[in-house]
Amino acid sequence: MSVLINGIGVSRGITIGEAYVYVRTTSEAREYNVPAEFHDEEIRRLHRAVKIASRQLHDIRKKIAKDTPEDILTFIDSHLLMMEDPAFDEGAAAIVREFSCNAEWALQVQCDRLVQVFDGMKDPYLRTRKDDVIYVVQRIQNCLSNKPEAFAEPVQFKGRVVIADDLSPADALMMQHQKVAAFVTEYGGPMSHTAILARNLGIPAIVGVHNVRQLIHPNDYLIVDGLNGMIINDPDLHSLKYYRRLQRSAQARRKQLDELRHEPAVTLDGVAITLQVNIDRPEDISQLRQIDGTGVGLYRTEMLFIEKNKIVDEETQFRTYKRALMRLKGEQLTIRTLDLGADKEIEEALNQGPMAHNPAMGLRAIRRCLKDPDEFLNQLRAILRVAAYGPVQMMIPMLTGIGELKQVSQLIERAKEQLRERRARFDPALKVGAMIEVPSAALSADAFASKMDFLSIGTNDLIQYTLAIDRIDDEVSYLYNPLHPAVLQLIKRTIDAGSKAGKPVSMCGEMASDSAYTRLLLGMGLNYFSVQTNSLLEIKHIINNSHVGQLRKQTRKILDCHDTDEIQSLVEKLNL
Ligand code: PEP
Ligand code: MG
Repeated sequence: MSVLINGIGVSRGITIGEAYVYVRTTSEAREYNVPAEFHDEEIRRLHRAVKIASRQLHDIRKKIAKDTPEDILTFIDSHLLMMEDPAFDEGAAAIVREFSCNAEWALQVQCDRLVQVFDGMKDPYLRTRKDDVIYVVQRIQNCLSNKPEAFAEPVQFKGRVVIADDLSPADALMMQHQKVAAFVTEYGGPMSHTAILARNLGIPAIVGVHNVRQLIHPNDYLIVDGLNGMIINDPDLHSLKYYRRLQRSAQARRKQLDELRHEPAVTLDGVAITLQVNIDRPEDISQLRQIDGTGVGLYRTEMLFIEKNKIVDEETQFRTYKRALMRLKGEQLTIRTLDLGADKEIEEALNQGPMAHNPAMGLRAIRRCLKDPDEFLNQLRAILRVAAYGPVQMMIPMLTGIGELKQVSQLIERAKEQLRERRARFDPALKVGAMIEVPSAALSADAFASKMDFLSIGTNDLIQYTLAIDRIDDEVSYLYNPLHPAVLQLIKRTIDAGSKAGKPVSMCGEMASDSAYTRLLLGMGLNYFSVQTNSLLEIKHIINNSHVGQLRKQTRKILDCHDTDEIQSLVEKLNL
């Protein structure tokens, strides 16, 4: 029977396909007593499970797509090595005899012992290897309990709807490599970085579906409507027909918009608008599919660190940024310095001590870079060097005041000095901009505009910090409203500060990618948009059919308004 399940749609698109229930951790192994006369049999059961687990991994290794990143292959190889090391299952076998316990429990005891050893290591990289032990042990435990679905195998995501409690940006990237069809998660808000990533990758996604893992089971046949946040489990023929029709019309619309690929973004009254995209990795640029004149307004460099799950050295950063620049063929690349922290973390940091109580307000982004200047200098040098090869600019996230800016400027000068000493090639005139994503920065926009080369409004965080709403908490996502009058005032203030100082102001937060707000933003005087690649042509279509002169007049009324509902209906009128 067809069942309708609701959540928060965070990445539009329709997927029809089978569920893959992704379990990040298996249930705890249970201990039971195995009398001495059954030890040999229990140990044979253990050896059999190890063999099956290793055969499964070899199968995955063989079937894996040719273009799978080297990192994922290395990851599988290291698990195979561990699994096939005779000391590994002999150790567990000895525990069966020592404690007269079952094989699952013996593996757990061995796992805990090894994890303890890894935890005690000084080297942060080696400390993170404990996860490999956990992975290997869980895989064997699953084989012991015949739970093949209980642990995710990368190749099985292809074409499936992944059902999970939550997904990290790293999970999402890994699944995208395996061509996952959609995500549905129990937790997470629309502005979480995983949700943003899903939008950027064009993967339909729904979050905040409470108890989803009780409602959807492995291989259930689903329709996922990412726009409306709806899942239909076991759909009837009527729903299937309806959604297939919607899929076809979305495809037709995309084809129609494709005709705008070579058109400039210019309003009906002749105002040229700069339309750029947000990327997470150099590969995202290939998605641009020859859309003329499109540069990058936000390159989230932390995704390189997250994908590798470690702090990345200067040379690797330089090579990666250069790859992005070369792919842009002369268009501008705006590289944002590291914004790690909150929901974007690498394991090394997670293992360094207790989690902050309020990570979004903690040591995130530029605060974290300033705390570790050597690491920050690596990135500054990499960016300064890549800027010698084409139009690159750099922007700094989460600035709260001019004091931080002074520290950043000093470090940029030091990085230049170091490069001069090395006689390295770099751009001494690299343009530096500030992200305006904290209310204090928006209130100081005049000062930032006078000192920086450009500003870029990060509405995802600006809304989070202005309205005191955790952007990844689905419980409060109903309060997350770009049309809140306080948010609009801060955006307007920033745009005006830029135009007074003669400095470009861009918007790279998700508000710029939502076509419902394009006309409002044009009316507020925004001339630079950095959007999700998937929204680019739709936004261009709206720009090319708007008259900025008229919008400016209509927008004034909206900015004088204090009632969010009224603002909403005025914005809807603007879009008619
Ligand atoms: C923002 O906050 O709007 C932004 C673009 O940065 P991020 O989403 O990466 O925090
Ligand atoms: Mg931000």
